[in-house]
Amino acid sequence: MMLQNSATPARVLGLYDEPFWKRLKQDGRLSLQCCRHCSTWRYPPGPVCQSCLSPDYDWKPVSGHGEILSWIVFHRSYLPEYSSPYNVVAVRLDEGPTMISNLVEEPPPGSVIGRRVALQPVEMDDGVTLPRFRLLD
Ligand SMILES: [Zn+2]
Repeated sequence: MMLQNSATPARVLGLYDEPFWKRLKQDGRLSLQCCRHCSTWRYPPGPVCQSCLSPDYDWKPVSGHGEILSWIVFHRSYLPEYSSPYNVVAVRLDEGPTMISNLVEEPPPGSVIGRRVALQPVEMDDGVTLPRFRLLD
């Protein structure tokens, strides 16, 4: 796990979000809800499967690998916890769901669309562990 010298904006955790964050902090891995009836991965966490509407699920670990679908570098700060410049990436996990996150490193010049990434959990000063990613190739 990586340490970063920063804090995170205050979060409001719902009934289905809390296990996601607890598992990330405890295990250093991503775990997502997986439908017991049709095996569709569910993210963001929620009460029913978006494919078959079943409320039944199990929390299962995923690979933490994926591909960057889109990215941007913000040169203006919108939150005091995120000083500019900072990057934001959309990662399609190998299991299917798309996560909005950040690269732990400064993106290289040019586009990073299509680049492979791996989960890099980052523990912030305030104790929150964030699911960030690092470039693989
Ligand atoms: Zn389902």
